[in-house]
Amino acid sequence: MSKKVYESAPAEVAELCAQVIAEVPNHKHFRDLEIKISLVMVSKFDASEQIVRCLKHHGAFADAVVRLIPCKERLHNAHDVEITIDKFAWDGANTLRKKALLDHELTHVAVKLSKKDNEPMVHDDGRPMLRLLPDDYSITGFYSIADRHGVFSGEVASVSAIASRMHLSEMFAAPANVDQNPPPESESTA
Ligand SMILES: [Zn+2]
Repeated sequence: MSKKVYESAPAEVAELCAQVIAEVPNHKHFRDLEIKISLVMVSKFDASEQIVRCLKHHGAFADAVVRLIPCKERLHNAHDVEITIDKFAWDGANTLRKKALLDHELTHVAVKLSKKDNEPMVHDDGRPMLRLLPDDYSITGFYSIADRHGVFSGEVASVSAIASRMHLSEMFAAPANVDQNPPPESESTA
């Protein structure tokens, strides 16, 4: 098994990231404060040279992770935020999924505001003070516990709470304008 290889993400990542920042009003601070993002791609290959997932966060595979660059490191790379993306996950995603992934990582990054005047706070080097927001939810559990304890397990309770919060039954339903009972296709064609 090869080691992980880190490299600068290709231009496509920076382009999509800029698109997401431009399109999502919640990311306005990235433009207003000129927050600089370092985009990194990580990859790993198995013994038969097939690319494999390799990026982990708290022990579990993650498609991307984000971290704030500390002051001392900023001396060398002049970035405020670093987003690392798993190349296996990236290559297997379409553009919409890629944008959703970048949107997710950007959503973790918030600006620290002064309690006095609600203005963005700045570090000694003039860069904005940032903080990382935790995910609204994360799901962990054992299938065996869900099987044994059903609705009394944290596994099922957390999934059903999230499903109801997200209106998942509606999200997975076919759009209203899609005919769910199309006529059978003719079996031969001229
Ligand atoms: Zn997250």
